[in-house]
Amino acid sequence: MNFQASGISLPQTSLFIDGEWRPGAGVYPLFNPADGAQIADIANCDATHALAALDAAARAQPGWARLAPRARADLMHAGHRLMRERGAQFVHTMTLESGKPLTEARAEFNLSADFLLWFAEQTAHIHGSFSNASHGGFRVVTTHQPVGPCLLITPWNFPLLMIVRKAGAALAAGCTTVTKSAQETPLTCALFVQTLIDAGFPKGVANLLHTTTPSAVSETLLKDRRLRKVSFTGSTRVGSLLLRLGADNIVNTSLELGGDGPFIVLADADVDLAVDHAIMCKFRNAGQACVAANRIIVDREVEPDFTDKFVKKVSELKVGDGMDPVDVGPMISARQRDRLFDTINQLTSAGGKVLTGGRALQRPGYFFEPTVVRFDGPNPVMCDNELFAPIATVFPVEGPRQALEFANTSNYGLASYVFTRDLTQAIAMGEQLEFGMVGINRGIMAEPAAPFGGTKWSGIGREAGHDGIYEFLETKYMALTVGEIEEALK
Ligand code: NAD
Repeated sequence: MNFQASGISLPQTSLFIDGEWRPGAGVYPLFNPADGAQIADIANCDATHALAALDAAARAQPGWARLAPRARADLMHAGHRLMRERGAQFVHTMTLESGKPLTEARAEFNLSADFLLWFAEQTAHIHGSFSNASHGGFRVVTTHQPVGPCLLITPWNFPLLMIVRKAGAALAAGCTTVTKSAQETPLTCALFVQTLIDAGFPKGVANLLHTTTPSAVSETLLKDRRLRKVSFTGSTRVGSLLLRLGADNIVNTSLELGGDGPFIVLADADVDLAVDHAIMCKFRNAGQACVAANRIIVDREVEPDFTDKFVKKVSELKVGDGMDPVDVGPMISARQRDRLFDTINQLTSAGGKVLTGGRALQRPGYFFEPTVVRFDGPNPVMCDNELFAPIATVFPVEGPRQALEFANTSNYGLASYVFTRDLTQAIAMGEQLEFGMVGINRGIMAEPAAPFGGTKWSGIGREAGHDGIYEFLETKYMALTVGEIEEALK
């Protein structure tokens, strides 16, 4: 399906630089992953466009930083209101270019709007401090200032949430932005930027690039001294590359990277609840989520019951075009689907048994059957190996200690999950899990008030919550000499 057939107008396909939509150095075709149909030609930028976008962001930076927080907040509230009015266009655009079912696109839209509202509310609540030096004699005054022009690089799997979570925080903090969209989902980003512009954001504050050669953007901008921050969401490989690219210029860097989410079900858990949440956590977005359950680790005492119920529900999931009422949409591309043939071979060679699914669907688009692979016990095959697919792996374990040890056998540290009726055990386990986030009796955690992020290979920094905005602010300290009281009272 394309935009015409869906009755939704096509968002801007150009680059947005210095307050205007501009052509690129050429165009690249954009496809609907549900049927492989071409849905648009997208402007393809090169290094000169990247530089023009940074020129604009650098020019706009002082004025944007000087604007009173309340005035910035008003613009952000206006953006939020307009975004809400355009909900249907956002939702359909996301489904057409990313393939996710409309219900999931709607949920992502609502969450993204909530994040924008959160940042709008935070804008006028950035605090400083006034305190005494440790030996007295002078005062310690701290305030926060915008880091400066930021490069925001987003992935395709949550095309709206990712740009809102970065741009929302950066703009609220008083930073100007150059966003590089994911090649596969440029239109959702374009719609968001258009919404900010229509809400009245000044020229140069929000710029948008699309490209099939992202290295042209990152290599050009990260060595330009005017760029002061890069915020990236994507793979650990590219995150590590960006750290190296920004090293010479000491670019402030926030990274939200891959995950290896262990999903632990203890012997006393509510098995039905765990099954329902495992389905959401694993098969949302066809498994293409950094916080997806990568290894489902179940106490052997309840594992047969869990696995029977889980496999039954997985085999009933309806797969198809996200524009229809389905549970699971396509993979983002033929390449992402085709790598799964190797994944299934790797899992079965390591002793896994396919209990349902395991094959691609014979139809246009990039579909793969929801799949469950069971192992007889803990197995290292998926440790450090992000499935990023509608494939679930189940590992029985002997009690909570083995569950914890196996869960922590990973270099990743993003999301983890524990299902138990014993709160004391849940907290003990939560404290020992080497992950940035722990879902206790829940498989979905994203929330504006919560700090999102990971440890180790999963990244540096946190998005949203109370702390996220400070990723885009520098702390300024001023030492203040204070005179004698007698002098002051003369
Ligand atoms: P990717 O790293 O290939 O791409 C992510 C983004 O980086 C895209 O916009 C891409 O164009 C860009 N990119 C690629 N090479 C680049 C370069 N040399 N310079 C600048 N930009 C470059 O990842 P992907 O395969 O598109 O996304 C999936 C990955 O992202 C998974 O590992 C997933 O776990 C991770 N992810 C993490 C989070 C999180 O919040 N932690 C959220 C979503 C996805």
